[in-house]
Amino acid sequence: MNLNFTKEDIEFRDEARTWLEEHVPTEPPPDALQALREFDLDWQRTQYEGGWAGISWPKQYGGRGLSVIQQLIWHEEYASAGAPNIGSCFVGMNHAGPTLIECANDAQKAEHLPLILRGEVIWCQGFSEPDAGSDLASLRTRALIDGDELVVNGRKIWTSYSPIADFQELLVRTGSLESRHRGLTWVICDMTAPGITIRPIPNVNGIVHFAEVTYDEVRVPLEKVVGKIGEGWNVAMATLSFERGSAFIAHQIELSRTIEDLMNLARETSMSDGRRAIEDDETGRRLALARAEASALRAMTYRAVSRALVERRPGPEGSMIRLYYSELVQRVHRLGYDIAVGYSTDGNLSGPLARDYLDSLARTIGGGSKEIQRNIIGERVLGLPRQHRVEQQ
Ligand SMILES: Cc1cc2nc3c(=O)[nH]c(=O)nc-3n(C[C@H](O)[C@H](O)[C@H](O)COP(=O)(O)OP(=O)(O)OC[C@H]3O[C@@H](n4cnc5c(N)ncnc54)[C@H](O)[C@@H]3O)c2cc1C
Repeated sequence: MNLNFTKEDIEFRDEARTWLEEHVPTEPPPDALQALREFDLDWQRTQYEGGWAGISWPKQYGGRGLSVIQQLIWHEEYASAGAPNIGSCFVGMNHAGPTLIECANDAQKAEHLPLILRGEVIWCQGFSEPDAGSDLASLRTRALIDGDELVVNGRKIWTSYSPIADFQELLVRTGSLESRHRGLTWVICDMTAPGITIRPIPNVNGIVHFAEVTYDEVRVPLEKVVGKIGEGWNVAMATLSFERGSAFIAHQIELSRTIEDLMNLARETSMSDGRRAIEDDETGRRLALARAEASALRAMTYRAVSRALVERRPGPEGSMIRLYYSELVQRVHRLGYDIAVGYSTDGNLSGPLARDYLDSLARTIGGGSKEIQRNIIGERVLGLPRQHRVEQQ
């Protein structure tokens, strides 16, 4: 591991801190999707205009062209400043943009990367289908070539932010139904194209952020194919390696702040015997453990960033951090729930900490379930024998 902060890095940190102190929005993000879109794009635009969007993205497409260490410093300062969660800009900034940087042609990069950075568009991800989640290579949404277009028919599900998205990273089958990973193609789909229908699905908290998306004779120009026809599996693996390897760095760093907030909550919350929650041995033990685990997670994140200095695409080791983070975030939010609800006198089950806990349950499913992450770690990191199947999301 080689992660040393240089004089430039330290100056960069000071500048970032000062800028964030002056610009972080004071109001929380709204729940309603259309309002969230405006809030997220507005904040993204503010960061871009301040020179803080796409720290490690190439300069020619509007980024700063700085190192991944400076990107990490930005995330750290962002979290300590209490800046809003990236929300609906997540796909564009954290995996569609990085996939385009690695796999798209110059025209595609020049068209899309500046739009993402400038906060002009929202992206969503159309990979999962009702019968193709973990086993992504079995997806059935068909795309047939007709002249210089693809004609898409099929159905995607759990497509986060699709009701407010402008573009989609869409994975379709251009080969035969039996071709599995050899017959897939990754395309940039315009979400306003005729034939697309979006049916919102409320989550466990009653909030709509994902949807089912159907495609009925949707025409996608061939120039929107990223990579080559039939070679979409490789592009999709780049997307998933970013989604599992680096997309959650900011969230991992933010988790430490959440734990400190819970420490304060436990200091303020009274139990029925008059003592504070933090004086309860079990609560204190769980808080201390969460803090230690968050430090371990931070060390793993630093190691991954150090590795990213030499390898742009995260390797299968990203699944170790992803798995550890997603299970830890659930333990932390369960602790918050227990402190807030367990000691409350009115038994209020609907406060923000209860909501955070319910939200956290999805973390071990989205982007590949915890079982799939374990399979990847077992097979691709530890070299254990493969399961009887070909590949998984
Ligand atoms: C909040 C949230 C947001 C999401 N956003 C998006 C999005 O924007 N775009 C998108 O394309 N998808 C999205 N998804 C879908 C997500 O990628 C899938 O839910 C996930 O890949 C699991 O697929 P599945 O739901 O079909 O479950 P299945 O694949 O049917 O799995 C069911 C259960 O079986 C287990 N299982 C399956 N195969 C194996 C195996 N080989 N070994 C061991 N266990 C196995 C799984 O771990 C799981 O517990 C989102 C999901 C969530 C929860």
